[in-house]
Amino acid sequence: MSYEVMHDDFMLDKLNEECGVFGIYGHAHAPDLTYYGLHALQHRGQESAGIVASTGEQFLSHKGMGLVTEAFANNALEKLSGKHAIGHVRYTTAGGSQLVNAQPLIFKYKAGNLALAHNGNLVNANQIRSHLERQGSIFQTTSDTEVIAHLIARSGYDRIEDSIKEALSMIKGAYALLFLTENKLIAALDPNGLRPLSLGKIGDNYVFSSETCAFDVVGAEYIREVEPGEMIIVDEDGLHSERFTQQTQRSICSFEYIYFARPDSNIDGINVHQTRKELGKKLVREFPIEADVITGVPDSSISAAIGYAEESGIPYELGLIKNRYVGRTFIQPNQELRAQGVRMKLSAVRKVVEGKRVVMIDDSIVRGTTSGRIVNMLREAGAKEVHVLISSPPVMNPCFYGIDTSTREELIAATKTVEEIREFIGADSLGFLSVEGMIDAIGREDHAPNNGHCVACFTGQYPTEIYPDTANCVDK
Ligand code: SF4
Repeated sequence: MSYEVMHDDFMLDKLNEECGVFGIYGHAHAPDLTYYGLHALQHRGQESAGIVASTGEQFLSHKGMGLVTEAFANNALEKLSGKHAIGHVRYTTAGGSQLVNAQPLIFKYKAGNLALAHNGNLVNANQIRSHLERQGSIFQTTSDTEVIAHLIARSGYDRIEDSIKEALSMIKGAYALLFLTENKLIAALDPNGLRPLSLGKIGDNYVFSSETCAFDVVGAEYIREVEPGEMIIVDEDGLHSERFTQQTQRSICSFEYIYFARPDSNIDGINVHQTRKELGKKLVREFPIEADVITGVPDSSISAAIGYAEESGIPYELGLIKNRYVGRTFIQPNQELRAQGVRMKLSAVRKVVEGKRVVMIDDSIVRGTTSGRIVNMLREAGAKEVHVLISSPPVMNPCFYGIDTSTREELIAATKTVEEIREFIGADSLGFLSVEGMIDAIGREDHAPNNGHCVACFTGQYPTEIYPDTANCVDK
């Protein structure tokens, strides 16, 4: 029997975040705090982690594959020192999972060294890469982020801020960026603010993080979001803000609220757990169901299930339990035993569901295979009826902004009707939250389209230009 280590179906049947970034300026324990910050952002990327620290004169760095603890095994953190640091956690699909693609990237520019950590994905990376290659640039990685590094390195400005601005004026797509020079920390967010990036402070020292949950871990106080089109520079003179474009329109990824971000994070001032509860409450209004018990697929759907239970008055129960000690990848004997993979991740609680009409809340259906197995698991545990409600609209289009969606053909909602999906997963009924219901539940007041959210994977209306080869820019 041949064995291979592969991504389990449970993860393949979810959208996966591709990165998280953390940075701190002027703190005596900058590398250690960055390590803790990355730990808090681990859910945003589990395939590699890296930190670059600056002593003010030189960079010290370490990158490794795996979880933060694995990447920094064997006391690797002890080799880092300096008062400024940036870090990165990364997720990729198997093909791009190489140390050479791990971040932060370090490269030389006119005045010295620059380190770069990127969350998001560029939609015109291939075009720029081909152009630069024709002019003699040689790329070391397959990552779209390296395109930004080359553009900065080729720029002739004296001030690094001006070189970065010039590079940012040429790239399109999603980018929450942290740059580190020997004595400056610079944060920049794309004109749509597609990915989150927050500013905080520990004492007199500024920190940036993809999510505010990392601020809580390192004892930082939240100050504000980095704004779309804004560049924040922190150096020995303190903090100041510049715009690299005035043409901005917020389109923050709605999936950050639905699934990606940690429940204790606040994104743009809106708490993720509370939002998920509201999504569950909206589901009651759109799909009232007579049932005995509400359960959620752990962990990300529990908040929505609690919201559904609160609004409907039907009790919430732990009908499904997650085995926390199964890693993201594990040895699977063969295709036929893949169903076993879901059973290793999740178990139904027979005493809770036996003889009951169960409403099972999940945050999304991507390919549908896992949902079918969970419905089956609940039936095997004696559930009389299984109704599936999804706290997001059907995902029908790929994401080009740093989320690993399957191709359109693999997205079940792109090829099947809701009734066909219901039949495929074997549920008694199936409902997806409407786009309007979702936007309403998040509750952001913004004059931008969709109240300032990206909803492209649901509607196909992308907030940026999409180029004929954009799909190939997605970093795999
Ligand atoms: S397409 Fe979907 S997953 Fe991608 S940024 Fe937009 S809302 Fe988020």
